[in-house]
Amino acid sequence: MTSPFDLERRLAEVLGSSGIESPAAEARWLVEAATGLDREMLLMTKARLDEGVVAAALELTRRRAAGEPLQYITGLAGFRRLVLRVGPGVLVPRPETEEVAGRAMDRLPEDGVLVDVGTGSGAIALAIKDERPDARVLATEVSPEAMRWAETNREELEIGIELIDGDLLTGVPSDLTGEIDVVVSNPPYVSESDRSSLPVDVVDHEPHEALFAGDNGISVIERLSREALVWLKPNGWLVLEIGETMGEAVGDLLTDEGYASVHVHRDLAGRDRIVEGRKT
Ligand code: SAM
Repeated sequence: MTSPFDLERRLAEVLGSSGIESPAAEARWLVEAATGLDREMLLMTKARLDEGVVAAALELTRRRAAGEPLQYITGLAGFRRLVLRVGPGVLVPRPETEEVAGRAMDRLPEDGVLVDVGTGSGAIALAIKDERPDARVLATEVSPEAMRWAETNREELEIGIELIDGDLLTGVPSDLTGEIDVVVSNPPYVSESDRSSLPVDVVDHEPHEALFAGDNGISVIERLSREALVWLKPNGWLVLEIGETMGEAVGDLLTDEGYASVHVHRDLAGRDRIVEGRKT
């Protein structure tokens, strides 16, 4: 019998020697995933782990050391107040995207209507409806695999968003034409030429249709910024997550399309991350 803390130390050693950045924290999460118990429970029960659990934890750790995203292995990802289910076929929601959801909410009037384009796990749409139950929240997704994760999360969390299968804003009910207060999106924005700069756990495991957008990374944003003008109310906002080198280009694009109040905002790490503009 092994104590959870001895196991944690053993896993942390394996992770550390494979170059994982935060081995101690990840070892803790993997022990929790293998035992199904959180740290508090492990402390309270003074659990001793049998061979089967130890073997399972070592197997999860082997997958992580081989480069699989941690959240695919635990099956869970935190996003604002929510814990979402994730796995192969859907992008793991990123911390910087929490700020995108926050900014979209700031732009959303009482009882407003918002669409999240390319919802993936449902992260942005579910978090907004959770924090702003007054809003009507719709979300689109083009990948059937990602859509299944969004549906699972909607069901488990019992948060009433409307999920729509479609390219960008296609499939949004036509009576919402010119009636939407906020279009928010974390679209694919990595350029093919930046492929080699992505970490292996991203490029080898996460879906490429969630990440890549043509030769310069801006192709999906170009289409979306044009289409959104049809759906937004006058004074409605488009709020986009962008890559850190794209601030100027996307800002100019929105201005050229006729958006007003165009601003580029930095994330907590000081990198250009959000562009927003108001339909006039
Ligand atoms: N919103 C999620 C998040 O922030 O975690 C996922 C963002 S991921 C970067 C982009 C998502 O957009 C993927 O789920 C991808 O399948 C979807 N997508 C790509 N092209 C799309 C399109 N033309 N229309 C709708 N969704 C699209």
